[in-house]
Amino acid sequence: MKEKIFVTKSILPPLEDYMAEIKDLWDSHMLTNMGPKHEKLQEKLKDYLNVSQLELFVNGHNAIEFALQSLEKKGEVITTAFTFISTTHAIVRSGCTPVFCDIHPETLTMDVNLIESLITEKTVAILPVHVYGMACDVYALEKLGEKYQLPIIYDAAHCFAVEVDGRGIGSFGDLSCYSFHATKIFHTIEGGAIAINQPKYQENIRAKRNFGIEDGEIVTVGGNGKMNEFSAAMGLCNLNAMGQVIEAREKVYRTYVERLGKTGLKFLPEQENVKRNYAYCPIFIDPVLCGFTRDQLYDALMAENIFTRRYFYPITSEAPCYKGKYKGESPIAQKVSESVLCLPLYPDLEAEVLATVCDLIHHLGGKS
Ligand SMILES: *Cc1c(COP(=O)(O)O)cnc(C)c1O
Repeated sequence: MKEKIFVTKSILPPLEDYMAEIKDLWDSHMLTNMGPKHEKLQEKLKDYLNVSQLELFVNGHNAIEFALQSLEKKGEVITTAFTFISTTHAIVRSGCTPVFCDIHPETLTMDVNLIESLITEKTVAILPVHVYGMACDVYALEKLGEKYQLPIIYDAAHCFAVEVDGRGIGSFGDLSCYSFHATKIFHTIEGGAIAINQPKYQENIRAKRNFGIEDGEIVTVGGNGKMNEFSAAMGLCNLNAMGQVIEAREKVYRTYVERLGKTGLKFLPEQENVKRNYAYCPIFIDPVLCGFTRDQLYDALMAENIFTRRYFYPITSEAPCYKGKYKGESPIAQKVSESVLCLPLYPDLEAEVLATVCDLIHHLGGKS
């Protein structure tokens, strides 16, 4: 490729649409602090995501931190290391201690059969991740939460628009945190949200987002998590395109699956009761089956100016700042992280890029 190709490319609305959306900000001078665009986006997203209560935030990481802080408890949080480092950082920065639970080898989400043995009197929450938009075992987690009276906070950064049995995935758990970062399938440039399914957290979360202020009173320790009006305007424009965006992503994804079906590569499994969003195209490389290693493919694509991502490698428990510090072994997550590569996937991915990636994989495997 002449130009560098990355694993994703942020969507943008037609410039005129965005200009039209932000024009009235020059009249109102209301640029942030839960202005009209913020309120409108919040309402629209509630509908779109099929959740009963939603609060917007300045970014997804911040949403996870505020969600954890709204528990007003510090202790151990059972989580997964097969995620973006943000999940683990949010736990540590909230004054809690991550305890790592290994993943299920197929769904790549927390293995629910391993959770109980990690629960102690210090546990304050369970924080699973719907990684790559794969739904966690939400029903088993719900039961565990009830049995041990533990809140479930989902990192739902990957699963915008995903549904489980016709229900918005954010409606599961006590709290579900979305990311609307520019690299995610829907974005507000930077942004995030918490779907609140336990009303008891709502007031606290809303106050915390605005320096702990509620009706002029400082009711709790807070920070600044407010989404500004320019971001909300971008969200309003992007939301209009989501139907087409997901459809186009699915087409690219299915082309990869079709063309690479006989190469020994593994793709994500289908989940029967889950409506997917095609946010990522991770492939899993077993050198014995494929005839090449993950890193050989990564390097070969890079030589063609195609920059794939070893997403998630290393697992977060192996990050230099966390290595050896916290409880919990994740041999399966470790193994998966050594085999995974995310291929370029975005709505208008050029046919030429798709062909180059697929041909190169066939060639490397000696199957061309
Ligand atoms: C993107 C992401 C986050 C952080 O979201 P930001 O909006 O970038 O702050 C957290 N967790 C996961 C799994 C993510 O992919």
